[in-house]
Amino acid sequence: MARHAKTRGGRLAATAALLLAAATPPAAANGMVGARAAARALPAQARPYDAGPAATAVHHHESAGGARLVFDMNDTVDVRAFVLSNPDRVVVDLKETAFLIDPANGRASRPARAGLIASYRFGHFAPGRSRIVVDLNGPARIARAASERTESGGAARLTLELAPSDGESFRAAARAARAAELLQAPPQPPRKQAEAPAPASGGRPVVALDPGHGGVDTGAAGKDAIEKNIVFEFARAVAAKLEASGRVKPVLTRAGDVFVPLADRVKLAQSAGAGLFVSIHADTLSETWVRGATVYTLSDRASDAEAARLAASENAADRAGGVTETEDTTDVQDILSDLTRRETRAMSHAYARSLVAYWKHTGDLNKNPLRSAGFRVLKAMDTPSVLLELGYMSSQGDLARLVSADWRERASTSVAQSIERFFAERTAAEAPAGAPDRFANAGAPAPR
Ligand SMILES: [Zn+2]
Repeated sequence: MARHAKTRGGRLAATAALLLAAATPPAAANGMVGARAAARALPAQARPYDAGPAATAVHHHESAGGARLVFDMNDTVDVRAFVLSNPDRVVVDLKETAFLIDPANGRASRPARAGLIASYRFGHFAPGRSRIVVDLNGPARIARAASERTESGGAARLTLELAPSDGESFRAAARAARAAELLQAPPQPPRKQAEAPAPASGGRPVVALDPGHGGVDTGAAGKDAIEKNIVFEFARAVAAKLEASGRVKPVLTRAGDVFVPLADRVKLAQSAGAGLFVSIHADTLSETWVRGATVYTLSDRASDAEAARLAASENAADRAGGVTETEDTTDVQDILSDLTRRETRAMSHAYARSLVAYWKHTGDLNKNPLRSAGFRVLKAMDTPSVLLELGYMSSQGDLARLVSADWRERASTSVAQSIERFFAERTAAEAPAGAPDRFANAGAPAPR
């Protein structure tokens, strides 16, 4: 039974339309039956024509014989495809490519899509590299992964063909792919971001602002808005406020729309000498009435079922990027680390309470605004860390605020003030009597 991707109509951006003009419809060229799913291009992400490889549209076809995913591109690129198990995915690695395509094209739907492909994502993965991650409904084998010129020349397309397989063959292929990667891949060069020397803070305390998701991992999606962009804009606004007042040095864990694994975010904060880590998110819940901001701290046992679910979904960010999750290596059990961890947690809780108090000036709080769960990104042993959920994109009221520049201005001011307050209190506690106080004129303490 043939099944075709749902068509998401939409106007192509000028650049995209130009690129697309030379492409041959892949269905016609390959004799496969199927309607073309015209991808909606994103004008905001449009790049100059000569800026490197660009993908302008995606077509998804399902048939009895398997599935095909075709990206229309302006040029050919080297591709490397392999499978990963648990959860079962197909990954295609390629040179850094501008995807001028709405990520909504690949999103999972309810009820789940029939056929082999449940959903797919695409975007930046690592410096100079992009990645396509395909979530599977069942075991599949890669029948073909190729990038080639179209007959008309000029344009190209990247084709991924999947055929149904069985569980045992799939797991064997995943093991082989992993072994090949371990044996052949040169040791991964440390990511530049995580390796960068600590920025000169001029003696100022450093806060790490961690906008969630990025690149191939888009995070949650609301109507015409995606989490990775909302939280990045918010983090930048907080950083700008801190830079303007000059008391605290902000460091962002990602420089733009790039994928950064969770462990690297923590490492970056540590190597920058951050005294506080604030992860920023805006997720969705199926309970559309749940609304307001929530501040999470780390705990072994989640404070409630919703916190547990949220932590599980945030912890899957590496999976969304097609990264094999590694065991946390920070869980060293000894007495000294236990003391450090306890002190760190106490400071995290104190900051979380203060942040909630400051946020009251800004607007909406969740009815239960202080919660905890096992977020991997909060696990630095010696850096007080919280995760701020700005609001829920699944709530109409929250979403309206999240995309409002006016609200962002007010809310980011509250967050910046709470960060300055945190360091002011620590400086006061640690400084010898009579030492000059850079926080002397910092904002008043938050109402408790
Ligand atoms: Zn998130």
